[in-house]
Amino acid sequence: MKSQAYIDLENRYGAHNYKPLDVVLTRGEGIWVWDVDGNRYMDCLSAYSAVNQGHCHPAIMQTMVDQARLLTLTSRAFRNDQLGLLYKEVCELTHSHKMLPMNSGAEAVETVIKAVRKWGYKVKGIPDDQAEIIVCSNNFHGRTITIVGFSTDPGSREGFGPFTPGFKIVPFGDADALEKAITPHTVGFLVEPIQGEAGVIIPPEGYLREAKRLCEQHNVVLILDEIQTGLGRTGKLLAEEHEGIEADLTLVGKALSGGFYPVSAVLSNKEVMDVLRPGEHGSTFGGNPLACAIARTALRVLVEEGMIENAATLGHYFIDALRSLKDPKIKEIRGKGLMIGIEFHPEVGGARQYSEKLMAEGMLCKETHDHIIRIAPPLVITRDDIDWALERIAKVLRDD
Ligand SMILES: *Cc1c(COP(=O)(O)O)cnc(C)c1O
Repeated sequence: MKSQAYIDLENRYGAHNYKPLDVVLTRGEGIWVWDVDGNRYMDCLSAYSAVNQGHCHPAIMQTMVDQARLLTLTSRAFRNDQLGLLYKEVCELTHSHKMLPMNSGAEAVETVIKAVRKWGYKVKGIPDDQAEIIVCSNNFHGRTITIVGFSTDPGSREGFGPFTPGFKIVPFGDADALEKAITPHTVGFLVEPIQGEAGVIIPPEGYLREAKRLCEQHNVVLILDEIQTGLGRTGKLLAEEHEGIEADLTLVGKALSGGFYPVSAVLSNKEVMDVLRPGEHGSTFGGNPLACAIARTALRVLVEEGMIENAATLGHYFIDALRSLKDPKIKEIRGKGLMIGIEFHPEVGGARQYSEKLMAEGMLCKETHDHIIRIAPPLVITRDDIDWALERIAKVLRDD
């Protein structure tokens, strides 16, 4: 079958909740993917940073196959021999006290909301049903009703109400606004260290440090959503390290499995997690042995194969080179590690055209909002690969 036949099937039988580029992929290896017509592309999205380790990483693949032969799912009614090992390895690596495993990122966010609310009632002594969580404008934390209820993106919210109460929205990057929003009923502040879906928005230097200080001062739990920024993407294991802080609760997902399987987790520094008692929260697939085995190898290769350092070094190289293009259509190039945003001037007329032109040149990128393109290749990219990408980007800008 040719690409168009697959696209026709999707259009005919599928829900239209996405507007993908018209490329039908069938195979991936490292930073490269191939479509059904045999064309090769450099993947500069990495499934929204879920394949930081590169497509079909051989060691993760081997673990997946080996574990699938042994045992895949027990439910948490019974124990399995992978979960405890994953707990230990994740906690040691991230300096956490406890971990709670789930599947998708949105589930990790929902889990943290439940845990921090309960902590507010049991430990902080907030009156029943009065807990408040502060979030930021232009946030992206997932797609459940509760989460889209505190989104500021009309497309994510409209038509889906009524929503869950108990959230306050403050501008991202504004520590004074955060301080003003804190009340005696505030239990947590949930924030992305860098806003990915909003267009790689980097807050002012010191913002997270200040947020940490305010949270400590007011006995508010600082919750960092590192589902996209975490696990090497920004050139550190966790983006919080850029500010030298440790969140009370950290959410990870996406690259926790290297793209093989949905695995997410809530990591806890404070003993917030201890407020959850048996029977109060769970997931049939959360913590299953297949997920745990995959996550253990995905983390091991991320660290052992130097992917985090590579993201730091080559991220600098990529960003500097993009800036030196000095293209008048570009308003700003920004990024940390290999999480890079190219923002075009509004007059240019939308970034989708560049996603499509880059695709024709063999690079897969996706616009976020109207005028920003995010570049986030797998962390196994080399300098030569980046030079290859730069040539294509320069050509597309020049020909325009
Ligand atoms: C992707 C993402 C989520 C949601 O993860 P899903 O696995 O799609 O539910 C939450 N927060 C951030 C910052 C993300 O990038």
